[in-house]
Amino acid sequence: MYDVIVVGTRVAGAPLAMLLARKGYRVLAVDRASFPSDTPSTHYIHQAGLGLLKSWGLLDEVIATGCPPVRELNFTYTDIVIKGMADPSADGIDAVYCPRRTILDKILVDAAGKGGAEIIEGFTVTGLLTDGDRVTGIRGHVGDGREQEFRATLVVGADGANSIVAKTVGAQTYEGSSAACFVYYSYYSGIDWGMNHRTGFGEQQFAAWPTNDDQYLVAVMRKRDRFRDFKADPDAGVQEIVDQIDPEIGARLRDTGKREEPFRPMLYPDNYRRQSFGPGWALVGDAGYHKDPFTGWGITDAFKYTQLLADLVDESLSGARPFEETLPEYQRERDEQSASTYELTQSISELTLTPYYDSVFRASSLSPDYSKKFFGLIAGLYPPDKFFGEQELGELYAQVDFPEADRHVAKTPENNSAPKNAAAPL
Ligand SMILES: Cc1cc2nc3c(=O)[nH]c(=O)nc-3n(C[C@H](O)[C@H](O)[C@H](O)COP(=O)(O)OP(=O)(O)OC[C@H]3O[C@@H](n4cnc5c(N)ncnc54)[C@H](O)[C@@H]3O)c2cc1C
Repeated sequence: MYDVIVVGTRVAGAPLAMLLARKGYRVLAVDRASFPSDTPSTHYIHQAGLGLLKSWGLLDEVIATGCPPVRELNFTYTDIVIKGMADPSADGIDAVYCPRRTILDKILVDAAGKGGAEIIEGFTVTGLLTDGDRVTGIRGHVGDGREQEFRATLVVGADGANSIVAKTVGAQTYEGSSAACFVYYSYYSGIDWGMNHRTGFGEQQFAAWPTNDDQYLVAVMRKRDRFRDFKADPDAGVQEIVDQIDPEIGARLRDTGKREEPFRPMLYPDNYRRQSFGPGWALVGDAGYHKDPFTGWGITDAFKYTQLLADLVDESLSGARPFEETLPEYQRERDEQSASTYELTQSISELTLTPYYDSVFRASSLSPDYSKKFFGLIAGLYPPDKFFGEQELGELYAQVDFPEADRHVAKTPENNSAPKNAAAPL
């Protein structure tokens, strides 16, 4: 009998297993994958997420893999240009890192094992054990092996968007919205453009950043209705998007860039939150809360709310407070703390800005001080209620002498539901 079984051992499950095992609990963590292995995900980690890696004693290990630091961010949204970097975090993190998932996830799984968790790789969970409406364990198998059963006080699904734990317990989704885009990404040599997050004319985006092995990740996004056309020649499609958004970088891609790996194409799953607890079970990571990758917050949020869940589960396993109190608190806190990121992500991943966000970003780009705060917001270091505070925005507009008619200080249904401009034709 385990205290906790964790299904899925990537950026949500492995840290959860590690944190609870380090506290001395009996933890089993299983994944149908073996490590190192890749997963469909780019891998930008914000300073807030890196801070958690540091607090777990794992950031130096990630940096030691040769993953280069990024200290200048180039963010554009049509003609709005914001360049710079957040101030260093309180724990001294002054760079962003984007390690390959093959590397990051292996470090996390190994840390869980070293922390004392029992890990079974290549184990597919096929169902849950129950006693009445309480989940009491998992069943599954390694490869074609015989079915095995394991029991625990708490079973946590950290098994991603298609979570079998969520499906089996019938966890309902709420606050959902349709995903807007598809993505293609791959790894390139011969590129040195710095970090770019560029959304441009004709509802399209490219992102690029350095990663391990002297390579750059290059990702492009367009609206879903253009997926079929794009599939016909993705190399030409990538080149076209980069050319249209930034012709100079487009020329450099054409002249020196070499794609080193196959493309990873993907229609994004929709945005959702899921009921994330019940008798004997909980969900963490994408299993419980998923949003468009446009803002690159999946890994950082997985770390944040894994830490939150680990702390609260510890309270219950140690007898301080019952699960009936701590698990609802986990979901409530997660939803409250992530509300601003979730709303912002759903809005700006439409690839057009509402009048509200257009004004706020445009005015921010005109103020060096607010540009820094913008990157602080994006990094998870500057509080959203201050960045979007009505008084603060009023002062910003006055300081940069912004047109009176565009001074949106508060979100309203009128200024925050429809894009400011119709998409420019290609
Ligand atoms: C195209 C794309 C780009 C992204 N870019 C970024 C980015 O730049 N930055 C960022 O922070 N986030 C990004 N994200 C989001 C990020 O990838 C996810 O939020 C994150 O991977 C979620 O982690 P997780 O551990 O919850 O789930 P996952 O990473 O999905 O891991 C789930 C694990 O559960 C295992 N599993 C599933 N079912 C079973 C089963 N039945 N039995 C056993 N094991 C099982 C799987 O094998 C898997 O290893 C991106 C996502 C996509 C799709």
